[in-house]
Amino acid sequence: MNYPAETLAELSRWLGDEARRMTILGEGNTSATLGTDTFLVKASGSNLGTLTPSDLVECRAAPLLELISHDQVSDDDVDSALLRCRQNPEAKRPSVEALFHAYLLSLPGIRFVGHTHPDSVTSILCSPAAEDFATRRIFPDQVVCCGPASVLVPYADPGVWLAQKIRECTEAYIHVHQAPPRVILLLNHGVITLGPTPESVKAAMQMTIKSAAIFMGAKSLGGPNFLTEATIQRIAGRRDEHYRQAALKL
Ligand SMILES: [Zn+2]
Repeated sequence: MNYPAETLAELSRWLGDEARRMTILGEGNTSATLGTDTFLVKASGSNLGTLTPSDLVECRAAPLLELISHDQVSDDDVDSALLRCRQNPEAKRPSVEALFHAYLLSLPGIRFVGHTHPDSVTSILCSPAAEDFATRRIFPDQVVCCGPASVLVPYADPGVWLAQKIRECTEAYIHVHQAPPRVILLLNHGVITLGPTPESVKAAMQMTIKSAAIFMGAKSLGGPNFLTEATIQRIAGRRDEHYRQAALKL
């Protein structure tokens, strides 16, 4: 098996299975690190639900990281960096979201990234309740699979502007929590989950979707009643939960 291309293709098909209602048509994208400077990312225009290793492009991170560090970037600069970063010049063009994937895969311990647009979560991200949903927690398994909080990113044009906003908001999160996030929520757009294994990306995605359903249910009953910060910290620090996280490869 061509690991990790086959592993990433399997994760992509799982996230893109229309029955899960996370993506339709060409929505969403995925990536996996190949080492210190290269990674695999979905090719532009391919479909997550039917993705095979031939729909993945091997890219160098350095030209993309350099691009997002600049203030003034033109569409031509983005096009040229996306084509230049390919290891094989004959390969397909990577998704424009390769820019944020390059950044997220540079974080310590992050090896897989998935991005989708689930109905329930995106509904909340298109509403005034988005900040409460991102920054607060409502039940213990949400803390275990999604971390003590999610990063909330203001709306930005997909491409270099979105990658820059994701980097800025993720750096602020790491400054506070001293660890990379598991869930990044993009206002009026969708969800990114990230972690050391495909299982961690799936678990954070599934639990974010379940949390969205519970959040909306609780809101319709006059809630939600949020967990206190002390409770969240206690769950995040519990040894039995760390064993469970290891057993589930989270
Ligand atoms: Zn998207």
